[in-house]
Formats: sequence, structure tokens, C-alpha cells
Amino acid sequence: MRYGKPKVKKCVGCGGRFRRDSTSYHMKDEPYKGNMICYNQKERKQFETKQVRNINGGLELEKGEYTHSTYSYILWDGESYKHTDYFFCSGKCSKAFAYLCASQLYKKGAIK
Ligand SMILES: [Zn+2]
Repeated sequence: MRYGKPKVKKCVGCGGRFRRDSTSYHMKDEPYKGNMICYNQKERKQFETKQVRNINGGLELEKGEYTHSTYSYILWDGESYKHTDYFFCSGKCSKAFAYLCASQLYKKGAIK
């Protein structure tokens, strides 16, 4: 499930940062060129593997010529987060805060 943009900079419960709901991609043929926010992009060079005979006559795999590159990267739409009830980074934080609120109200006699 995707959540909207938080209304505050940091989680009201723990003061932690909101985690982005991003997706990792691997072994892509081209670097990313779209409109999403792209980070951690890495190029990985691919080489052919050759079978060669070693001096004992056995077969061995050897790194051959460079063939192409593949890319891995993480994409984020710039607005989706893993979890936020707009003020909280996680369900745990929103529950803890709700509990705190409820116990304060209970102490004041607002709820019975
Ligand atoms: Zn939190």
C-alpha cells in the first residue's frame, strides 16, 4: 500500500525520518532516463565467459571480451512513503502516540 506525503518533516512519534517507498531495479540494459527520481545508479560491465583448456587438459572458464553493461538503480516517485499516517513513520509510532493520547485523556477524565 502506498501512502501520501507526510505533513511534517520528521515522525511525530520517534523523530525519525520517513522511509521512501522506492523500487530497486537490476540488470537493466540502459541507464534510467525517465522522470522518476533515480539514485544509487551503478554500471556493471558484463563479459563473455570462454571455456579454455588448462595445462592439464581440463576445461576452465575464463573471462572473455567485454560485451555490454547493465545498470542497477533505485527509483522513487518523489512522493510515496513506506508508511505514514501523515505524521508517523510507522504503525508502531502511530499506535504508541494514540496510546499516549488516550491515557492522557483518561487521566483528565475526558474518557471513561
Ligand atoms: Zn516514528
